[in-house]
Amino acid sequence: MNTNEKITQERRLVTAIPGPKSIALQQRRSEVVSTGIATALPVFIERAHGAILVDVDGNQIIDCGSGIGVTTVGHTDARVVDAATAQLKAVTHTLMAVTPYESYVAVAEQLAKHAPISGQVKSILVNSGAEAVENAVKISRKYTGRSGVAVLNCAYHGRTQLTSTMNHKAAPYAAGFGPRAADVFRAPNSFPLHDGLSGEAAAARTIDHLEKTVSAGDLACLVAEPIQGEGGFVVPADGYLAALAKWCKENGIVFIADEVQSGIARTGTVYATEHFGFEPDLILSAKGIAGGLPLAAVTGRAEIMDCTGPGTLGGTFGGNPVSCAAAKAVFELIAEGTPQQNAQRVERVLGGGLRKLQEKHPAIAEVRGKGAMLAIEITKPGTLNPDKELVDKIIAHACKNGVLLLNAGLNYNVLRFLPPVKISDELIADVLAVIDEAFTAAASN
Ligand SMILES: *Cc1c(COP(=O)(O)O)cnc(C)c1O
Repeated sequence: MNTNEKITQERRLVTAIPGPKSIALQQRRSEVVSTGIATALPVFIERAHGAILVDVDGNQIIDCGSGIGVTTVGHTDARVVDAATAQLKAVTHTLMAVTPYESYVAVAEQLAKHAPISGQVKSILVNSGAEAVENAVKISRKYTGRSGVAVLNCAYHGRTQLTSTMNHKAAPYAAGFGPRAADVFRAPNSFPLHDGLSGEAAAARTIDHLEKTVSAGDLACLVAEPIQGEGGFVVPADGYLAALAKWCKENGIVFIADEVQSGIARTGTVYATEHFGFEPDLILSAKGIAGGLPLAAVTGRAEIMDCTGPGTLGGTFGGNPVSCAAAKAVFELIAEGTPQQNAQRVERVLGGGLRKLQEKHPAIAEVRGKGAMLAIEITKPGTLNPDKELVDKIIAHACKNGVLLLNAGLNYNVLRFLPPVKISDELIADVLAVIDEAFTAAASN
């Protein structure tokens, strides 16, 4: 048995947060690790299982972040650990472009099977979400012979030069870092709480903006997160994405669904795209795909994926065998349906609980999201004016009490919940109680 399986699924504090060992490590870190790497909660983690993080001081913290949506199937899932361990002992690296191995092919088969794209579907494997976005744009440019890249308000696509240009927020991603990538164009998104538009009307606004400011014939691709992640778990109005996909098809624009955060069972389906009734041309996976190991994929229509020619795509570490073995284990779990069912349960239990909190705390303007990708937007009561200070207070209170919570949104006024989908109903109830307390405490000081 994996010894981590003995970690009890409960919150338990034995020191203040952060504890003395974490404080000492934070001191060591500050000497040698660049401040460019931020830290949401400075407790150093030693072990983890399911939805519980155990820090160096022995505190057990409920993880509502999953390392930003990575350990979706749970920390140190036995199946993932066993598969990766066996692979580690068998062979760790050859490079697909030098001498291939089966697990790369097996992962691509699973991606082809699950991608919500009809006809023949092919993939490439890379290291990170940003690298997947970069490659998808590159492939689209070659396929269309055009250079324009359309992105949406509230978007987040990564931290490379191209992807940081594609993000909505200049700071902290692109501001001050020199030239932005060329030919990236931003358009209004669908954000029902703030624009009140139907999917159809919001799509008409996006399309009109792009036609007038760029022209459809100059666009290689439109990149959209079906549910926006960093932007605040923005769920578009029904029909929005389908209308955009239709317009892309009519105008020869490649529709890229960036499912780096929303994909791989996170929202109760393998891809969030499935909730919205449309077909992208390319779909991107990363974060949750290998149960905690680094792996990402560009998956799409074979005609597009094959357009660049031999030797044009890839990289040294892309599709590492250990990561692929872990991803195979994740897809085995997906074949059994448990991560999807668990994400649906999280939506019922956590989503239901958050709606109850909304009745009690008027600062909660909206509860939104799907599956285990849920958020609450915090505003000054009775308005849509963001209340970042309250979010900061709630996160601080939760962290101090052993619940790791993250923010999101252009104004950092969204509390997002991305727990491992395995999180038990008991742990969810505990999280809700801590947040309820946090709102009450914030109101009284
Ligand atoms: C995290 C994220 C990325 C970037 O992925 P990295 O692995 O951090 O490079 C891209 N798109 C979306 C939607 C993301 O959430």
